[in-house]
Amino acid sequence: MRKNVVVGNWKMNTTVAEAVELASAIAERIGSGEAGCEIGIAPPFVSLTEVGKVVGQSGIMLAAQNCHFESDGAFTGEVSVRMLEAAGCSCVILGHSERRQYFGETNAIVNRKVRKALDGGLKVILCVGETLEQRQQGVTEDIVTTQVREGLDGVDDVSRVVIAYEPVWAIGTGKTATSQQAQEVHASIRETVREMFGEAAAAEMRIQYGGSVKPANAAELFAMPDIDGGLIGGASLKADDFIAIVEAAR
Ligand code: 13P
Repeated sequence: MRKNVVVGNWKMNTTVAEAVELASAIAERIGSGEAGCEIGIAPPFVSLTEVGKVVGQSGIMLAAQNCHFESDGAFTGEVSVRMLEAAGCSCVILGHSERRQYFGETNAIVNRKVRKALDGGLKVILCVGETLEQRQQGVTEDIVTTQVREGLDGVDDVSRVVIAYEPVWAIGTGKTATSQQAQEVHASIRETVREMFGEAAAAEMRIQYGGSVKPANAAELFAMPDIDGGLIGGASLKADDFIAIVEAAR
């Protein structure tokens, strides 16, 4: 039986002080992080160490929003897997559409990052999703299948991978995919995982939905058979909303 996983992606929001305040509000109220749903937060790099101290033993997973695909060296401005682990992270979000769109990350780059993070012992949330144009052209399934196939190419063990389906047109727009639209894509992602890694891996793979998830729509989305929690942007910046979404996934 798959356990839902809800992760807050704080994106480029919060100073260190604000991040500590938000993490404290979440940690205090969430109780034991593990009850019925795995919970994570992904603050900006500079806040990871301090937020790590706040979440400490709460069971809340500390995630980063990106990492580099090389171990170390002359890569000005980049952050390595080893640095993330030393900062207390156990997970990294990779291939987010904002990284693909604004920072030129291709499936090949995302794949290098995925393999580096897994080799280093981190869990990975691999983000996939189509643009509005691609949906209108009817190529959603092709795009998402390719992102999953190329993103996970060369990976042997997907037990530390979560896939997040985030339709680009639903991110930060207030437009959520309907639960049926999301379910359709989630089922096709699970089929791709089955083809690549077999029946058991597909049955165990958690596939999160992301894109304008709010307390008002979370329960309906999470009730779908192939939706196993959410990757939450805007609503994760308000402790009350984030906790309400976690409750919907428990
Ligand atoms: P919103 O919840 O703000 O739409 O963002 C979703 C997202 O991109 C999470 O990674």
